Amino acid sequence: MSPGRPLVGVLALQGDFAAHRRMLEGVGADTREVRVVADLAGLDGLVIPGGESTTMTLGIEREGLAEPLRELGREGAPILGSCAGLILLDRDHLGLMDMRAERNAFGRQVRSFEADVDVRGLDGGPMRGVFIRAPWIAEHGPEVEIVGEVDGHAVAARQGSMLAVSFHSEIAGDDRLHRMFVGMCERARLAA
Ligand code: GLN
Repeated sequence: MSPGRPLVGVLALQGDFAAHRRMLEGVGADTREVRVVADLAGLDGLVIPGGESTTMTLGIEREGLAEPLRELGREGAPILGSCAGLILLDRDHLGLMDMRAERNAFGRQVRSFEADVDVRGLDGGPMRGVFIRAPWIAEHGPEVEIVGEVDGHAVAARQGSMLAVSFHSEIAGDDRLHRMFVGMCERARLAA
């Protein structure tokens, strides 16, 4: 750990947590893989990666992580959920965002694709997103701000310190979303 760098956890029960770690470190964060409750101590933010939301939910139950993860979010630590991570933030899972994710909404494996997403708040134009059996946001409450769409479907959203994207941005070589997220973690740490 180095002083001055925010410490960002990456939920590492399953999925592509390693790619997130690399990207976070590249944009100036220290990282820690999170597998058990004790790993959450002292984090300035957390990434919930893509993968398989059912498997991750089982891991969260097994480790008793659901309530501690909710607590982290309620305390104001920024949380970025990508793909399966977006699903885990919704009403039917951790409930940290007032929205309902529709799983595999674009279709299954055959409907994996790349698209440019204009994410509100991100400088430098649309970013490349990789959609792999991706969800979309089918419904949301007034506190959720939709910040990106593809073909008229909501694929990026914010609610307070939560940021959710239905695509993978950690593998397309564009680190702007992670940069923005690490900035949120830095501000949250200074405010704490
Ligand atoms: N389809 C997966 C799920 O529902 C999510 C896919 C992904 O994270 N790339 O869990």
